[in-house]
Amino acid sequence: MAAALAIVGIDIGTTSTKSVVFGTDGAMLGSCNIGYPLRHEQPGWAEQDPEEIFRVVLATVKGAVADSGLAGADVAGVGISAAMHSLIAVNASGQALTPSITWADGRSELQARRINAENGGIYRRTGTPIHPMSPLPKIAWLRENQPNAFAAAAKFVSIKEYVVFHLFGEWVVDTSIASATGMLALDSLSWDEEALRVAGITADRLSAVREGTYRLNGMRPAHAEAMGLPTNTPLFLGGSDGALANIGVGAIDAGELAVTIGTSAAVRMMTDRPATDPNARTFCYSVTGASYIIGGATNNGGIVLQWLKESMFGSSSAEELLTAAAKVTPGAEGLLFLPFLSGERAPIWNAEARGTFFGANLGHRGEHFVRAGLEGVMLAVLSVAEALKELAGPASEVRASGGFTKSPLWRQMLADMLGQPVIVPKVTEASALGAAVLAMQGLGLIGSWREAKAWVPADQVLEPNPRANEVYREVLGVYARLCKKLPESFAEIAGLQRRLSYRD
Ligand code: ADP
Repeated sequence: MAAALAIVGIDIGTTSTKSVVFGTDGAMLGSCNIGYPLRHEQPGWAEQDPEEIFRVVLATVKGAVADSGLAGADVAGVGISAAMHSLIAVNASGQALTPSITWADGRSELQARRINAENGGIYRRTGTPIHPMSPLPKIAWLRENQPNAFAAAAKFVSIKEYVVFHLFGEWVVDTSIASATGMLALDSLSWDEEALRVAGITADRLSAVREGTYRLNGMRPAHAEAMGLPTNTPLFLGGSDGALANIGVGAIDAGELAVTIGTSAAVRMMTDRPATDPNARTFCYSVTGASYIIGGATNNGGIVLQWLKESMFGSSSAEELLTAAAKVTPGAEGLLFLPFLSGERAPIWNAEARGTFFGANLGHRGEHFVRAGLEGVMLAVLSVAEALKELAGPASEVRASGGFTKSPLWRQMLADMLGQPVIVPKVTEASALGAAVLAMQGLGLIGSWREAKAWVPADQVLEPNPRANEVYREVLGVYARLCKKLPESFAEIAGLQRRLSYRD
């Protein structure tokens, strides 16, 4: 048998799907990225067309293999990463009865509130905060608001299960995506009875739960051809984008913290046993085997810089804003920003929270507002890191990834706020790499996904500035106290915005 040359990692994201061809040493050989829209049929809704995403998945695999210069026959296997929390009702032949309702969709707010009040214990068993982002309240919403689609649904699945079913004809879900539905009991990795009862379904209307290294064979020929792969190319289920990103940046041992700031932001750490927060601030999801990931996602990451650029400083580029902000000292001379432009998830879980500049005086200029904006994103990230510290102890190592690492100023802020060194690994597509790594383990090319840490060398190590850390600790205190004081005012201003018909 010829030696395996390459593995494809597919990453089905919210704005695009990226397929990446990796060598068996983790080196990136080629990639292809195709975007698709997020549709907002009604305010607060965020849906996608599953068939469109399926076609894009096929096209990106073909594009990535072509980009690598290899032939389809050189691909030893494929692994999949996908965004968490999507929900599609399908009939028995896999036809979608609803669009893919994404994590960003807020329609099930009422159901989430009710489940939290009446069945809040589900969080402690499933690890998924009870929030409109997750499939549990979404299924309850469907039952109450679209009873025909609910009754006709043979299964309730994620976008990844939809893709896998159309490729192989099997309804299976990895433990990682399954655990983010809010319906999987973490200790047994089986569907939780109470969650099923609350959703109003039985377990046969969900997929069979399998490990991330589960292997599927016998790809449907037409789809194999569209991907440019032989029909006998095996596919391995993989995991969720968050869990796989930790593998892809090398934050895989207990105590190793991964901080990702893209459009939104997330802080994640692996553990070897499930851990949930008494205050329900953080999530706990399965990775694969006896590995779990704890952390929190915030809504407001790089989108804050985009907003500053587009809405506040229309004529400036991101680089110009970052250069101006670098001239201001840490703490922005006492100007503080709560970055809740699109409400907030962890750790405050308040959809009505709003962006708040605090402390402005006559001495503050535009660059102070930019600096405070960048610091505000980091304060939100830090407040999640603080919640994790209470749960799992201090981080022994921190690894940063995402668009914000392009800015020397912004990435240094992370080290200064945390008061510890931050490693920026040399990796661009962490989730796709994580998916490929699980496929490699499934193929027996590596003994365990843990070996992949050696493939993720540090590009840079940022040392914290103790003086800046001192200032930021003080700023964080003011920020945390403001977050505690403002909920009533947030509800008032969000209500006013609704009445004045600004965007919610
Ligand atoms: P995603 O994968 O979530 O779409 P990325 O990881 O590509 O996001 O990061 C996108 C974010 O990176 C943007 O929202 C923007 O704020 C930020 N960004 C873009 N250019 C720069 C830059 N030069 N320096 C710092 N941040 C940047």
